[in-house]
Amino acid sequence: MNDFTFETRATRVVFGAGSLARLPVEIERLGATRVMLISTPGRSDLCRRARDLLGPLVVETFARAMVHVPGEIAVASRQAAESARADCILALGGGSAIGVAKVIALDSAVPIAAVPTTYGGSEMTPIWGMMENGRKETGRNSRVQPRVVVYDPDLTLALPVSVSAASGLNAIAHCIEALYASDANPLTSSAAIEGIRLLSSSLPRIVEAPGDRDQRARALNGAWLGGFALGTVQMALHHKLCHTLGGSFGLDHAGAHAVLLPYTAAYNRDSARQAMRQAATALGVEDAPTELLNLGRTLSAPTALQELGMSEDDIEPAASLAVERQYPNPRAVTREGITDLLAAAYRGDGRYVTVADA
Ligand code: NAD
Repeated sequence: MNDFTFETRATRVVFGAGSLARLPVEIERLGATRVMLISTPGRSDLCRRARDLLGPLVVETFARAMVHVPGEIAVASRQAAESARADCILALGGGSAIGVAKVIALDSAVPIAAVPTTYGGSEMTPIWGMMENGRKETGRNSRVQPRVVVYDPDLTLALPVSVSAASGLNAIAHCIEALYASDANPLTSSAAIEGIRLLSSSLPRIVEAPGDRDQRARALNGAWLGGFALGTVQMALHHKLCHTLGGSFGLDHAGAHAVLLPYTAAYNRDSARQAMRQAATALGVEDAPTELLNLGRTLSAPTALQELGMSEDDIEPAASLAVERQYPNPRAVTREGITDLLAAAYRGDGRYVTVADA
């Protein structure tokens, strides 16, 4: 058992089917009178529903959010918030919309309300990220922690199966890394175990029946737990590698999570035995990395980095970048070790995962 320091974060969570209707009450609780909506371009219907609910409180809609918050989107959204004199940023959608809200809040300290519609978990964290000079920069700042999160599983019924699977695996990745985090505590570990259990059992059913409301609620519940764990403890190898591949090599963020999760779990398997036992129990199997590989296949998620468009020539530079900054990880992160991991994940060579001494 680790020693730990735990700080409760001030996020109010409202969870339940139909809870979008609670938005006016929740925005009023924040004392906001000038609300700016943020979404990705495809979510105009959800923006319209929020405008209908909030009426004249909405003073601006910025529907140009993009994954990883490119520099020009950061500048344009901050300018729009300033011109609109927004006193609340309402993010509607997944991590891309919430990411833009966070970049505005980082600059201006305007409070964020979030209505997440994927399983990415950003709504529960003080972590911001944006592109600067071709690299993804990230940091933690309590200013960007959403003040209220409204989880309405009904809003996820139309989430495409591919995004459901990929962002769901992202949420499981938060849970797996939380279990072996250097600053893990009993609360984050319990959340992570329950998150793995909920997500791993609901996602295969969602792929078969995307409109299953009960399974959607279970998955979103798991995503909340994963987001809580991500926001509370330090992530390790898996997240650093995904940021490197997504931010610096342009690979799809959720796709990179989906491919890498079994490989990073296998890399850490023998150095994080207790965490792997807990994860295996939550998954209902003997070996967690092997089951994560099976789960990705069941969900028809991408299984090789080459499928995401990575070039084989990028393996070495990506490994160099990944070891540039040191951070706690159960097993030492070496250039050679990461090159082997990436080469196997590039090919989708499952033997790396299933062989116990990977
Ligand atoms: P996303 O927000 O990029 O959404 C993926 C796609 O799904 C988009 O096209 C979006 O319009 C669409 N979509 C979203 N909800 C939908 C719905 N209900 N129905 C139909 N379509 C819908 O995906 P994501 O995986 O949630 O977010 C990825 C981004 O979030 C990355 O930039 C990642 O780095 C960041 N992220 C940040 C944190 C953090 O704590 N800061 C945590 C997780 C992810």
